[in-house]
Amino acid sequence: MNQNSNHKSDQYLRTAVELSPHGLEQMFEAAIESAPNGIVIVTGSGAIAFANRETERLFGYSREELLGQSVEILVPERSRLEHPRYRADFFAHPNTRLMGVGRDLYGLRKDGTEIPVEIGLTPIQIDAGLFVLGVVVDISERKKAEEALRKSAEELKRSNAELEQFAYVASHDLQEPLRMIAGFLQLLEQRNKEQLDEKAKTYIDHAVNGATRMSQLINDMLEYSRVKHKSVRPVTVDLNKCLDSATANLQRRIQESGAVIRREDLPKVNGDPTQLSQLFQNLLGNAIKFQRKGVSPEVQISFRRDGSLWLFSVRDNGIGIGEEYYEKIFLIFQRLHGQKEYPGTGVGLSICKKIVEQHGGEIWVESTPESGSIFCFTLPAN
Ligand code: ADP
Repeated sequence: MNQNSNHKSDQYLRTAVELSPHGLEQMFEAAIESAPNGIVIVTGSGAIAFANRETERLFGYSREELLGQSVEILVPERSRLEHPRYRADFFAHPNTRLMGVGRDLYGLRKDGTEIPVEIGLTPIQIDAGLFVLGVVVDISERKKAEEALRKSAEELKRSNAELEQFAYVASHDLQEPLRMIAGFLQLLEQRNKEQLDEKAKTYIDHAVNGATRMSQLINDMLEYSRVKHKSVRPVTVDLNKCLDSATANLQRRIQESGAVIRREDLPKVNGDPTQLSQLFQNLLGNAIKFQRKGVSPEVQISFRRDGSLWLFSVRDNGIGIGEEYYEKIFLIFQRLHGQKEYPGTGVGLSICKKIVEQHGGEIWVESTPESGSIFCFTLPAN
């Protein structure tokens, strides 16, 4: 420590506690010795000039073994050759920096094992010359935690894919026996018209209706699992075309309900055109379906830029949704009404959510019951 810095630190410390020069030295020594990170000071030629207690613990060398040695003994063999070049570069441009940004750093211990580390480098200029102060942090625990997280994310992804595959196969295979049940029940009714009384016919009707409903549910479930099944190969999609196709598919319902649809000129995005058409179709279909008695549906489709996203909204003047159901309605098979009131399977919005999230966006609803709802969703703009 040169005179100048000694004087400065001295002054600084004296503002808090009264210390003799010896006391000050002791304090610095204790701080460095008990620091939780390895502290190594290296000369321009790469010799270890100083190492603290934590460095001994980290690398398994005693201080006597380290002092005067080349710092490269702490570097794994595979990186040893290039290390002098990095060192020379540091001394040519001495500034505070993290070592090896963007690559995994490892320290080599005396017993030949390696530890993952993070190393901060700082130049220190003292009377004896320019040195580099290296602060070594053992990141083994963090690495372990990261690895565990990566493994469980992978496991989750795998089990999700398995579950989706299961849902797909199961729903596909359930369709056929269901068709048989409905078909043979109808055949039974036709062939035995004379023998069956009214009660028996009603029972058969109920059974056929049940089978048809189940078939609808399974079909929608298939549709839901297909969203992930088809891998999205993004192309540039003109959302006006998606909306055109959605309104064309809903033409009959639009006419029957007298719905008025207002729309803006929509932007282009990257995505899957079929899925984005389906997204508009489901939202638009709901906006028309969940109308108040005696009020003809009015739907407004708008958008605006929100930072790096497009924010779209589909606003209707329908029955609205209570705030307590804002999350629930996006879950599969969740409905707020009976079949007779408003038909449906409760799958449409869960498909919308899947599509939007698959495209990197979010979907939510804002609503005033008895007045209308606004379904909002975002899509990345670039
Ligand atoms: P479905 O339309 O088949 O019932 P969805 O998943 O599309 O299934 O919708 C789930 C529920 O969310 C609906 O049953 C309805 O209660 C509510 N909902 C959806 N869209 C609207 C809307 N525009 N206005 C009012 N309620 C809606």
